[in-house]
Amino acid sequence: MIVNIIIVIAGIIGMEVFAIWFHKYIMHGPGWGWHESHHVHTDGYFEKNDLYAVWFSVIAAGLFIAGSLYWMPLWYFALGLTIYGVLYGFVHDGLVHQRWPFRVVVKRGYLYRLVLAHRMHHHTTTKEGAVSFGFLWAEKPEALKAKLKENKTT
Ligand SMILES: [Zn+2]
Ligand SMILES: [Zn+2]
Repeated sequence: MIVNIIIVIAGIIGMEVFAIWFHKYIMHGPGWGWHESHHVHTDGYFEKNDLYAVWFSVIAAGLFIAGSLYWMPLWYFALGLTIYGVLYGFVHDGLVHQRWPFRVVVKRGYLYRLVLAHRMHHHTTTKEGAVSFGFLWAEKPEALKAKLKENKTT
């Protein structure tokens, strides 16, 4: 039981680390073609960028199936990825971009820091120069502000 919980938590943390890397080097790199939609035009409910979420869901589903067939730890890892997806959806699509039919607004605490950080990520509409690539982890707003300024002048 304990081991399974650790695998789930490792899945969540591991996914955030992977997401930071993936967002920075893939989505703001060769994958910009899909991600650009999320930085540039905001009309319409769905964005090309949502295809990333679709793909990650397919991968998680595949891991669930493979895990239950061959190796249970993999199933728990997939559970961690799925929980990450829910947390990501809550913070990114919910708190930051308000894609819910209702409004939940946070004004303080760590969640507010996450919201501010991701808003700063959206200060750029280009592939280069963006800051704060994480979704559940973010630097202090002051640090990000300084970085943004630096990126703009160089
Ligand atoms: Zn981005
Ligand atoms: Zn966003």
